[in-house]
Amino acid sequence: MKTIDDLDVAGQRVFVRADLNVPLSGGRITDDGRIRAVAPTITKLLERGAKVIVASHLGRPKGEPDPQYSLAPVAVRLGEILGKPVAFATDTVGDSAKATVAALADGEVTLLENLRFNAGETSKDDAERGAFADQLAALADRYVGDGFGAVHRKHASVYDLPARLPHAAGLLIEKEVGVLKKLSEDVARPYVVVLGGAKVSDKLAVIDNLLGKADKILVGGGMAYTFLKALGHEVGISLLQEDQIPVVLEYLERAKANNVEFVLPVDVAVSANFPDTKTHAPVPDYEVVDADKIPATKEGLDIGPKTRELFAEKLADARTVFWNGPLGVFEHPTFAEGCKAVAQALTDSDAFTVVGGGDSAAAVRILGFDETKFGHISTGGGASLEYLEGKTLPGLAALEG
Ligand code: ADP
Ligand code: MG
Repeated sequence: MKTIDDLDVAGQRVFVRADLNVPLSGGRITDDGRIRAVAPTITKLLERGAKVIVASHLGRPKGEPDPQYSLAPVAVRLGEILGKPVAFATDTVGDSAKATVAALADGEVTLLENLRFNAGETSKDDAERGAFADQLAALADRYVGDGFGAVHRKHASVYDLPARLPHAAGLLIEKEVGVLKKLSEDVARPYVVVLGGAKVSDKLAVIDNLLGKADKILVGGGMAYTFLKALGHEVGISLLQEDQIPVVLEYLERAKANNVEFVLPVDVAVSANFPDTKTHAPVPDYEVVDADKIPATKEGLDIGPKTRELFAEKLADARTVFWNGPLGVFEHPTFAEGCKAVAQALTDSDAFTVVGGGDSAAAVRILGFDETKFGHISTGGGASLEYLEGKTLPGLAALEG
């Protein structure tokens, strides 16, 4: 994979595909980690005299402009982080983008509006995607892929555009891929994996692969309830993917056969209602119950204190840790304890610790942990998972060529 050092960029229009898909609440950026993560690449290109065109997606608009997914607030924050003005184009390949790019002097930067305001970006039709990539290519002379969080997507700006321009990987992708290589090739043992998040189906393929690699797998979050149900426990109104029960049972069997220690919650925090993550209103019926005694009317929303202790114990001797997916609904403070306990165990540990997943990475920062105490906080959830599943990622393959 070529790096930006291999690319002549002085005086050139350089298209940087970033992942600026940050969490927003009422137009306010609640975690700017992804913006900060791509800043070094942009700064380096600007210092070398490039005209930098930054582009990203934000959320899931339906292929047409939708103001709630505008990147305008991101342009402001990017400017603050870079310490220089960022010209914002109010479209992606239209008059505003063309005029803004044409006005760039060497060492200046613009951010285009949300790529997904154009149906061609995510189209399954190669020709439609290709046509959009052609329009993007007309804006630039060089391509730098640095949107790690999107490299698992076969999208126009990720997959088709690099084929049309001299290209290289940015500093963030270089770093992310280096870390994932370390997790997949010569991993230091014990290798402990902590998995959480909402849907078990998102994480099945990675569990499948990790059953041949990890020494311990600790499961919390919404996905744990499908495992608890598979073991015959009542899970009340907790998140459940009943159709996945045969799969998770097979995994539990295989874990035994492969000598992988599989650890499920022994107690959970429950409530009859999903907590209000905006107002943080108190949860009057909050209680902690054993994992095999979840009331039929209640929902498991976090791991309990015994489980937190158990997980910390299992993490204590780790030399490598990969954590993906929140252990509870951390967006409400009452159910953030599981995430806090695991984040604390990781910051206390001497292991090489990697946090992957948009929400998990945001949780670490929102809960006030010092990012520098982790080995690496990845900007890509789906992308890191698919890499660890052993899949070929379209956005990385496109940069190889
Ligand atoms: P990541 O982005 O880190 O990969 P996911 O997107 O898989 O993580 O899952 C994140 C979401 O999972 C969070 O919004 C969190 O509130 C939710 N979650 C965690 N535990 C539970 C639970 N017990 N019940 C419902 N949702 C949960
Ligand atoms: Mg997520």
